[in-house]
Amino acid sequence: MGDRERNKKRLLELLQASGTGNSHCADCGAADPDWASYKLGIFICLNCSGVHRNFPDISRVKSVRLDFWDDSTVEFMTHNGNLRVKAKYEARVPAFYYIPQANDCLVLKEQWIRAKYERQEFMADGKTISPPGNREGFLWKRGRDNAQFLRRKFVLLAREGLLKYYTKEEGKGPKAVISIRDLNATFETEKIGNPHGLQITYRREGHIRNLFVYHESGKEIVDWFNALRAARLQYLKTAFPELPESEDAFEQGQVFLGSNEQGYDVYEDLPKGIRGNRWKAGLTIITPERRFIFTCPSEKEQREWLESFQDVLSRPLTPLNLLAASTEGSHGRR
Ligand code: ZN
Repeated sequence: MGDRERNKKRLLELLQASGTGNSHCADCGAADPDWASYKLGIFICLNCSGVHRNFPDISRVKSVRLDFWDDSTVEFMTHNGNLRVKAKYEARVPAFYYIPQANDCLVLKEQWIRAKYERQEFMADGKTISPPGNREGFLWKRGRDNAQFLRRKFVLLAREGLLKYYTKEEGKGPKAVISIRDLNATFETEKIGNPHGLQITYRREGHIRNLFVYHESGKEIVDWFNALRAARLQYLKTAFPELPESEDAFEQGQVFLGSNEQGYDVYEDLPKGIRGNRWKAGLTIITPERRFIFTCPSEKEQREWLESFQDVLSRPLTPLNLLAASTEGSHGRR
């Protein structure tokens, strides 16, 4: 067997090696990555490799199967690998920051990858990360009656828990004042017809309303998205102080609910030995990754929550269901 074949075989074994994290893309978690950044020492999927190509000073990519690998590069990959490199570049990702998954849109993945390796925002010895807090800027917002996008000023007041937007730059008051309590944001690039399209959903006077916005800059729109998440997390912490710190049910600001078929389930009651600080009644939601524990003030509410969750989990999966589930699940309403 020549060097070429031997090195390919070593790499393929490395992809499967337990305890390395190499069996899933280092950046989006997609299964069976067959590309690698040989400068960073990680295995990544084809999609993420496309992002890495944009900053050759920091990352260089090669196909595991198609490209030539010499001894020293294979050695380097062996000594690094996804878990080790993750420990370095993801040492302190803030709780509010959204970590994209394989099926998320490109702009989320691109900004995550750039934040991690290019801007090195999450390294242990990096700059201190202050929560985004207040934010002000212009976004393109789709008009109510036509598909035209208009430039609008948005202001997020994190402590007050408010998002405002204005139709005029100066003068008049805001066109809308939205409470962060009733707000959810998701990237909807196809629906909005823009690769940076963000849908902001909120509730007003009992109705669900939507704002469809984008910004030319991928960084800007993802920063807005994470600032909204940070403000929501801050709100949830204030609204649900009884959640013990260790049970970070709202760490991501929302719990992703799938369907029964995917291993999601909900149980009446709390696991043995766990008791709410203030409320005795509760629910346990099982996801493929972990358990989430919720407490509620009465058994009546417990029963109603249980029925709502069972309803959501038994529905077939659609993006709309997921959006509704996360909106409902995360701010104490049904
Ligand atoms: Zn990936």
